[in-house]
Amino acid sequence: MIYADNAATTKMSPAAIREMLPYMDEIWGNPSSLYETGQRAASALRFARERIAACIGAAPDEIYFTSGGSESDNQAILSAAKWGERSGKKHIISSAFEHHAVLHMLEKLEREGFEIDLLPVHENGMVYPKQVADAIREETCLVSIMYANNEIGSILPVAEIGAVCHEHRIPFHTDAVQAAGHMPIHVRTQNIDLLSLSAHKFHGPKGVGVLYARRGIPLTNLIEGGAQERGKRGGTENVPAIMGMAAALEEACANMKENTEKLLKLRAALIDGLSKIPHSALNGDAQSRLPGNVSFCFEGIEGESLLLLLDDRGICASSGSACTSGALDPSHVLLAIGRPHEIAHGSLRLSLNAQNSEGDVAQILQAVPEIVGYLREMSPLWKDKQNGKKPFIL
Ligand SMILES: *Cc1c(COP(=O)(O)O)cnc(C)c1O
Repeated sequence: MIYADNAATTKMSPAAIREMLPYMDEIWGNPSSLYETGQRAASALRFARERIAACIGAAPDEIYFTSGGSESDNQAILSAAKWGERSGKKHIISSAFEHHAVLHMLEKLEREGFEIDLLPVHENGMVYPKQVADAIREETCLVSIMYANNEIGSILPVAEIGAVCHEHRIPFHTDAVQAAGHMPIHVRTQNIDLLSLSAHKFHGPKGVGVLYARRGIPLTNLIEGGAQERGKRGGTENVPAIMGMAAALEEACANMKENTEKLLKLRAALIDGLSKIPHSALNGDAQSRLPGNVSFCFEGIEGESLLLLLDDRGICASSGSACTSGALDPSHVLLAIGRPHEIAHGSLRLSLNAQNSEGDVAQILQAVPEIVGYLREMSPLWKDKQNGKKPFIL
């Protein structure tokens, strides 16, 4: 099997698994208990908090453990909204191609009377600091712009956007789920007040993540309960998963330079090869994109059919995001960068990790053009385009 869907989830690293095991069979106590096995779990948690804080330039008491990226996004946005509301500020700026964990929370707030500005995304997958500056108002209580997009891989200028926010004393949240472990993060120098990350996107376990909240940002609970996470997130901590996450993040950050170099080579070969398919287009900027991300649209095919035929050849890929595949709506991300519906339906996302090889790339480059050609041959729409009855778009 060739796994090229790392933006959906990643395989756990052996180091992360090793780190988790003792917390399932030896040190399984509740960190809130006072006897020794509980206190050993508590001290492990403290250590994990320090390690994760160090990876992103935060202080340990700014780290809140959550169930993953969706929960962190939800809590970050709700907290800033409730904080703003107290002083009559109910305007939020975000972008049209955020993850649904952000967009659906914003829709909910809109129903509660907040005003939401979704900035348009440029054709190249960018949102520029100037757009944010122009949208800021007296009543703005939050700017939430993702660090890197999960479908087209574009990397956004978060430090500059954060600087604009801070000039106006507005909290800045970034969904860094795709960036964590793959791109350098330093919350201080990048002017980030709230940040979400998720362990299963960097070879850690599923169902665990982090909300970083700068000191002084008051959090609103999504989960009421005990005094865990300084009272901001009730529920007994998932100690094994948190330990696995800390190990995975440290490992990913330590190997980032080496992994990036390797991925850039594989990415270049893939983009080069897939660009040779006629009537195709790369989604997003060629340079400013995640090292492992390749996203294409092929005219005249259905992404879903392409995925199924790739699966027959043992290649795991995605069309749009995992959350939308299965639905008939084309990806909101591809529509946001201006792809017409017809083109957005023919998308393919390959997201690599450092374990992928040149051999994998060669097999993908063999399979995709063949399958695209085969699907086009069967398509009446494609015939019409070839006969000149319908225009080509790409
Ligand atoms: C995967 C993902 C999420 C959701 O994270 P979960 O841990 O799966 O809830 C949020 N934002 C982005 C950009 C993602 O890629």
